[in-house]
Amino acid sequence: MEFTPAYMELVNTGEIDERIESLFDILTHCDLCPRECKINRLQGKTGYCKSDANMMVSMIQPHFWEETPLVGLGGSGAVFLTNCNLQCVYCQNYETSHNGVGLPMTCEQLADNMLYLQRIGCHNINLVTPTHYTPQLVKSIAIAARNGLRLPIVYNCSGYESVKTLKLLDGIIDIYMPDFKYGNDESAQLYSNVPDYFEVCSKAVLEMHKQVGDLVIERDIAYHGLLIRHLILPNDRAGSFKVLEFIANEISRDSYVNIMFQYRPFFHAKEFDEINRPPYIEERDNIQDMAIGLGLHRGFPSG
Ligand code: SF4
Repeated sequence: MEFTPAYMELVNTGEIDERIESLFDILTHCDLCPRECKINRLQGKTGYCKSDANMMVSMIQPHFWEETPLVGLGGSGAVFLTNCNLQCVYCQNYETSHNGVGLPMTCEQLADNMLYLQRIGCHNINLVTPTHYTPQLVKSIAIAARNGLRLPIVYNCSGYESVKTLKLLDGIIDIYMPDFKYGNDESAQLYSNVPDYFEVCSKAVLEMHKQVGDLVIERDIAYHGLLIRHLILPNDRAGSFKVLEFIANEISRDSYVNIMFQYRPFFHAKEFDEINRPPYIEERDNIQDMAIGLGLHRGFPSG
């Protein structure tokens, strides 16, 4: 299939440079995400995500354990960014997201790595936990595109996103892959320290869908669209029905939804009795039945 990534038009017109400027300007009073710390990261200040203006990367590699349409034969070109704007108590990547494991990387260096992932046959550039480094990432994409990058960009995020920032990504991101973690704000507060996850994530996912539509898969590979992840928590602490109902009724019944069953009580989860175990198979089956009952039909149980 002939594929041109979304960002090429903005690169060709030069508009991507204006977007980069607008995004870096946000760092002077950071409200890139809904935490709205309002600190000047260009002067070395850090907010909730513990990140200043220097991008930190923990790992870059072809990833073969993402959703099947992202992996294909060549793998998904994963770029794991250090730190996180959500920081869940049960995070399985806590060394990276909470403890800051990683090394500084310039936009030029990351662009070189994106081109390397393309050369070795990856099907996309998969930006894992990108939100707090959006300006640096878009600058890296622009440099790489001007040097031959033509892979789709996957924005693999927690779902706690600002619509204002997402609008600056319109026409740059090919595949949005947000988590939709909670239909239950009490759980969101307890496990991810946000009071308003459902409302914020709902608006963000609507904006993403407006930009890219449902997931388009050609010859088993995804090129464009929205791929939503929902992680099952034990004792329905994720409020799964409300999440699936919103996706089916307000986004699209053709949404590709990966209902994930891999939760394990990592990191601080053992301090919370109700999530201190994996979910049972019966809990997974109930939630999948809910999804089917709501008319959802793509992407679950996995792949
Ligand atoms: S990106 Fe970081 S500093 Fe900026 S608002 Fe979000 S948590 Fe705060």
